[in-house]
Amino acid sequence: MLTLNLEEENLNILFEENPLKDIFHHDNTEEYLIAVSKVSQAVKRFLDHNKKPFSGVSPAQLRPLFAKVDLDSPLSDYNTLLDEVGLLYTNHAVAFHHPEYIAHLNCPLVIPAIAAEIMISSINSSLDTWDQSAGGTLMEQKLIEWTCNEVGYGTEADGIFTSGGTQSNLMGLLLARDHYSLTHLNHNIKLNGLPPEASRFRIFVSEMAHFSIQKNASLLGLGEKSVIRIKTDRSFRMNSILLEDAIKQEIAAGNIPIAVVGTAGTTDFGNVDPLQEIGRLTAKYNLWYHVDAAYGCGLLLTSKYRGLINGIELAHSVTVDYHKSFFQPVSSGAFLVKDKQLFGLITHHADYLNPKDHDDDGLPNQVNKSIQTTRRFDALKLWFTLRMMGKVKLGSYFETIIQTAAEIAALLQADPAFELMNESDISALVFRYNPRDNRADICKMNQFIKKSMFNGGEALVAGTKINQSFYLKFTLLNPLTTIDHVKNIFNIIKQHGNEYLQFNKTTADFRRN
Ligand SMILES: *Cc1c(COP(=O)(O)O)cnc(C)c1O
Repeated sequence: MLTLNLEEENLNILFEENPLKDIFHHDNTEEYLIAVSKVSQAVKRFLDHNKKPFSGVSPAQLRPLFAKVDLDSPLSDYNTLLDEVGLLYTNHAVAFHHPEYIAHLNCPLVIPAIAAEIMISSINSSLDTWDQSAGGTLMEQKLIEWTCNEVGYGTEADGIFTSGGTQSNLMGLLLARDHYSLTHLNHNIKLNGLPPEASRFRIFVSEMAHFSIQKNASLLGLGEKSVIRIKTDRSFRMNSILLEDAIKQEIAAGNIPIAVVGTAGTTDFGNVDPLQEIGRLTAKYNLWYHVDAAYGCGLLLTSKYRGLINGIELAHSVTVDYHKSFFQPVSSGAFLVKDKQLFGLITHHADYLNPKDHDDDGLPNQVNKSIQTTRRFDALKLWFTLRMMGKVKLGSYFETIIQTAAEIAALLQADPAFELMNESDISALVFRYNPRDNRADICKMNQFIKKSMFNGGEALVAGTKINQSFYLKFTLLNPLTTIDHVKNIFNIIKQHGNEYLQFNKTTADFRRN
């Protein structure tokens, strides 16, 4: 009895102090500003202290620290919290902004977009309906219109912000599937599910296309088997002659081609498929044409390299990923369609949210075009970016990375210790270390290099497999990465490679004795 009274008294004291101290509202602006400024100070410390792309920490080192955290005992203040988050996360976070991080498709960020994130999360509009977003909806629509215009679409085009390329590709295949079924089989998949013919639907992509195409085909009930992978030519672009052969073969086998996905900027090589040629074939065979420009969309920003992505305007639908090539924080992507009527294939009216009469009243409800319901106002980041920097400046960053990649390709080619696999339309270079007269297992040596670099953390590169062999990969997305940075990375690669050769030589000698 006594303890209960004491607890009640304690609670009363707490509540008198500041009853709802943690809630974002107009009486708590001071608390809000303190919190946001403390966190941005901690981010500054991350920039000041993390001088390497990665600390090299292992899960085994970090995991024990997590065991000590009791999520049911809150901490006393932000300083204590940020110390804890430092130990568990920021001290070891992989630093995408670092010029010697050239591993995956992660771009450094532009500051206006980061600033916008604070507003996005604080005001927390949801972009599904006008009545939860107001002007936010119109901003998103204006940015979509702008992107459609850059793609070369006309006024009938429309689109929606998405969580990224995977979701945008899903929407492309979803519309392709439902549109085919409705127009050719008079079967409404939205209402009735898949028709029996769906097991024979076929989608064509290059063998270098992103894995999300297979994953999405399987999510759409078509099975991974529905995806026919077309061999690429010597420059890793889809071979359009083989594409036409494959379409004919599938038809002859009694299957039903429904779509072709062209990739504008493959994840591994940064190469652009022959978009115009694919467009000609999709028109000839009456197939849905989707272009995955998750990586290549940055080409839209530069007049110098815009020609590389010509033909994208022929597509029925397009994926763009602002968080790959527009220097935007995750998440930020978009799905575009040439003919906005096609969104009708996925529109669902919920009485509580977007009733049919809203359409009649002209209230714009973006949920009509999305597969998400509650949806972040990611568009505001791009708005801040374009309004503070403009397209030309953003495009100049993309030009810089393309030029740096070309110079690095030339260096790799000139160095007999390296084998370069590709010339990139954008900024992804696949190569391996293979110095003269070595008798090592080249795959194992390059795997060793990649692993040692990750453990050391001074510079991060990626790896990939081509024809069963392991290669190293640079993805250049940082305009601050210079030739000197990359020369330094060459040296690190050679050091680790030579360590491997040395070690193998010693063990080989040891075995011989
Ligand atoms: C990254 C990538 C995707 C997937 O995009 P997410 O934003 O990671 O979902 C799709 N296609 C290509 C070509 C990509 O490079």
